[in-house]
Amino acid sequence: MPDCIFCKIVDGGIPIDEAKIFEDDQLIVFLDQLPVHPGHTLITTKKHYANLEETPEEDLVAIIKMVKKVGKIIKDNLGYEGYNVVVNNDPVALQTVEHSHFHVVPRVANDGFRFLKQKEYKEGEREEYLKKIKEAF
Ligand SMILES: [Zn+2]
Repeated sequence: MPDCIFCKIVDGGIPIDEAKIFEDDQLIVFLDQLPVHPGHTLITTKKHYANLEETPEEDLVAIIKMVKKVGKIIKDNLGYEGYNVVVNNDPVALQTVEHSHFHVVPRVANDGFRFLKQKEYKEGEREEYLKKIKEAF
């Protein structure tokens, strides 16, 4: 994809040597340039897939193994107590680079990081959504 910033990183058009952690023939792993906390890491495939549904299962397996490795390093070596694994899937969900990627976001207690506020289902709404999902499953 010619205008994809991650494809440009993969092909060397945008150098990230100062941020790159790891690269093999399948994945590239690098520090987010605007971290939620220092050590915030991005893991993506070298091939272009727009979102999670397009990403082949063998690549997702490699990604989640890398998430586990990076997460352990973040906890064991950077002084963090845990991490969030975040996928912003599609632009409406704040995916700003349309090349599927996983965030590993280091966390400490009371660091102010928040997801959307949760709310209760309205009358009959849970049953309606459950039915639709189960029918399509
Ligand atoms: Zn791309």
